[in-house]
Amino acid sequence: MKCSCGEEAIYFQKYSNKYLCKSCFNRDVERRVKKVIRPIIKRGVKINIGISGGKDSLVMAHILNKIFKNIPDTKISCIFINEGIKGFRDKAEKVVKKFCKKENLDLKIVYFKDEFGYELDEIVNILKDYKPCSICAVFRRYLLNKYSKGYDYLAIGHNLNDFAQTILMNYIEGNIKGIIHFGSDSEGFVKRIKPLKLIPEEEVIFYANINNIEYQDEICPYAPLSYRYRIKEILKKLEEIKPGIRFSILRGYEKLLKLIKDGEDKEINRCKICGYPASKDMCKVCYYLNLIKEREKNG
Ligand code: SF4
Ligand code: ZN
Ligand code: ZN
Repeated sequence: MKCSCGEEAIYFQKYSNKYLCKSCFNRDVERRVKKVIRPIIKRGVKINIGISGGKDSLVMAHILNKIFKNIPDTKISCIFINEGIKGFRDKAEKVVKKFCKKENLDLKIVYFKDEFGYELDEIVNILKDYKPCSICAVFRRYLLNKYSKGYDYLAIGHNLNDFAQTILMNYIEGNIKGIIHFGSDSEGFVKRIKPLKLIPEEEVIFYANINNIEYQDEICPYAPLSYRYRIKEILKKLEEIKPGIRFSILRGYEKLLKLIKDGEDKEINRCKICGYPASKDMCKVCYYLNLIKEREKNG
């Protein structure tokens, strides 16, 4: 099959019914990234990129580096959080170090152990009745925010599948607050950008492969325990039945968001212990840390 430019096609984009050659595929992906971040592509912008070693964050970092490399006075750096997940994160750390060296990007590495006194594996062992991802996500978010001070934006590698999953999860649970706040910036946090919002997961993988981006191709051992993982499987099946459904979910959500945005409660609280933005009087990081200490005290 030929691409519309006349070159040999290497990719079939099911939802658009198009055959694409390597350069048209790359251009198509990069065009959609630029579409999402267009307002911030300018002189002097400072972006901290959260990277995990997985395909999404490395593809994102590669494309952002490509876009901003030639724009004067910009600062693009990477941050990697090592939660302490035995046999998994240490491998990721190696991948990330190699990637940043190759791309000539600054890298900051932060460890749960140094920051909170515990590795995630230890925490999970103490708080056995909690889902590892619920705790991990709260701690990661805290650190990403902490180490992005001084930057204009924090870039997160969520692809279209991740967006569709989160929206669907919130719908199913009737979590209206989650629907409203997802994708919007909360006060007290560094502004977040999600450049891969319009890129389906399979295209991220294909992009990584044809551009020789080496990534960690194994999932976190705790991931299958999460609810999100099951939603992911369901969505995969839905996409097979109806190609393009992830885009429809995202578009539907954006329409809904416009309608309900006016009713949003803008007030923010601060944690009484650490001062971090919180919805209750204590933030979730302090809540979990207190709980860990209590459990340790009581054996
Ligand atoms: Fe943390 Fe869950 Fe992600 Fe593993 S899958 S790194 S436990 S949030
Ligand atoms: Zn082409
Ligand atoms: Zn706190």
